[in-house]
Amino acid sequence: MTGSSVKILPGHLANKIAAGEVVQRPASVVKELLENSLDAGATRVIISIEDGGKAAITVADNGTGMGEDDAVLSLERHATSKIESVDDLAAILTYGFRGEALPSIASVSRLVLKTRRQRDEMAVVLSCHGGNPPLRTFEGREIGTIVTVSNLFHNIPARRKFLRSRTTEFRQTYDTLQRMAISRPDVGFRFISEGKTVLDLEPATLSERMVDVFGDYEVSGMIPVDEQNDILQVTGYIGKPSFGRKVKPQQFLFLNRRYVVSRSLNHAVFSAYEHLMIKSAYPFFMLQMTIDPSRVDVNVHPAKLEVKFEDEGAVYRFLHSLVQKSLSGTGHVPALEVAGAGSEGESSLRFTPRQHLWNERNWGGRQGDGQAVAASLMVGAGEQDRGNTGAKPEDQTEMHPAEFASGPICQLHRKYILLQVQGGVMLVDQHVAHERVLYEQIVHRFSSGDQPGQQLLFPQTLQLSPPDALVLTEMLPALEQIGFVVRPFGRDTFVVECVPHGVKEGNEADVLRGILFQQRDSGTRILPDSRDVLAKSYSCKAAIKAGDALSDPEMRTLIGQLFATKIPFVCPHGRPTVMRLSLEELDRRFGRSLP
Ligand code: ADP
Ligand code: MG
Repeated sequence: MTGSSVKILPGHLANKIAAGEVVQRPASVVKELLENSLDAGATRVIISIEDGGKAAITVADNGTGMGEDDAVLSLERHATSKIESVDDLAAILTYGFRGEALPSIASVSRLVLKTRRQRDEMAVVLSCHGGNPPLRTFEGREIGTIVTVSNLFHNIPARRKFLRSRTTEFRQTYDTLQRMAISRPDVGFRFISEGKTVLDLEPATLSERMVDVFGDYEVSGMIPVDEQNDILQVTGYIGKPSFGRKVKPQQFLFLNRRYVVSRSLNHAVFSAYEHLMIKSAYPFFMLQMTIDPSRVDVNVHPAKLEVKFEDEGAVYRFLHSLVQKSLSGTGHVPALEVAGAGSEGESSLRFTPRQHLWNERNWGGRQGDGQAVAASLMVGAGEQDRGNTGAKPEDQTEMHPAEFASGPICQLHRKYILLQVQGGVMLVDQHVAHERVLYEQIVHRFSSGDQPGQQLLFPQTLQLSPPDALVLTEMLPALEQIGFVVRPFGRDTFVVECVPHGVKEGNEADVLRGILFQQRDSGTRILPDSRDVLAKSYSCKAAIKAGDALSDPEMRTLIGQLFATKIPFVCPHGRPTVMRLSLEELDRRFGRSLP
């Protein structure tokens, strides 16, 4: 170590290092600038990005603004107006308090800050170039602050290279904004990307803001919650179990208006759903916790996403019982009443969105009246039904369709169908079996040149978030090939005009949404010739699910249709649809076939 010595880092170098922690990508810049605007009391903020924020990010607010001296100071490291002593740190209610964001961002971009207070005539304009002191000019402007950050990481090529595509960076920024928008309904937000307004949110109440951000449909699947004890207040929304998603869930936890992540608190919420949803589904939740700031430590992570509670156990228990209680409230879970009494174990399979819809719309709330379902299975069968009476698959001589018309058959755990076949017994997975049936119907229509879709008598509208609308727009040509005719209808809204034959009435928009979300979360690109991918996705989303009760005629129809398909033994994704156990095997296992 000879010759080396400990040195104080020059300011601009320290800023760059701090930037590594605070500024990862355009979304983190947006987050910091937004937080500053909100800390400055802004009631309206306009955020604009170009090239996903890689080229430029602008955040303009109508907050208090800064005087000339403060503006210069704000660009210096650890300059903050928000805390003066260690004691203040314990009572932090502002978003920022480190005084790091502006200097850090300025050190890795070109930053221009324009700001004006009410009492000043002119706005001060500070332009930062690398490590040099900012250039100072003045101009006429309204009260408030506007910060423009361009060429992020222009001086750190390694970081610049690390930035992702425009769409990915856009998505990240959108998520950041969405969190802010739901935690601060009192503030108006406008988000402009590539010159196009993608969000335009007026100041509103929380319930209005939820609808503005998530749309009517999603909000109809939420239960409002609001409760407090002596240390904690919780307000927000939790998803009805029947709205659970198999895809990446939307879950938001806020602590004193700050978005936080906490595995343990997530678990507190999840576990309250334990017997109400199928295992692989996730509930929506958006919970805003308010707690005395001295009881939490938000200073543990530079991006301030993680928190430490003085008594995490108490918070956990409070959240868990709050959610549990809200879910058990009658009237919130219509599927529960419809499904009738049953053990918890049984009900864990009941709450699927489809079941819920079938019960309400097709079965008129009565359970076990399977005729509507059976009829729809038959109607949906089309060619397969005709094939059924004609040639049967050669290698399946023993599976004569006539067998399915009579003989013992029963549903097990609302998931599998058990039936007697010639020479043994067979178990069928109802979901994958129906998937195979629907898939072949679609494929048959491709090859026969038949119209793949049927016109809806009452076209349905689909309201989406802006990023989902982009994904759907890309999918439209391929969707049309499998029978979905969907037309853009104003910003982020679509009209579903045509759906493939066999989609259950009333379910059209749900099936389409399911395909969209699956596509979105798989992240693969949809090309115009991706119809097979979509046909598989469609058959999965439109098929009956584990948890759907089937009547005797429904089961027989389904099995009949399955064995009329070309490849009855595997679903389009390659999972087995049936298992057969021969009488010989049964006899052998029971010790009957001793020679
Ligand atoms: P912090 O938010 O941690 O205090 P920042 O570097 O983000 O640190 O900001 C430094 C200071 O600059 C803030 O404390 C605040 O006084 C001032 N400031 C930053 N942005 C704005 C704004 N949009 N309006 C008014 N003041 C601002
Ligand atoms: Mg800040």
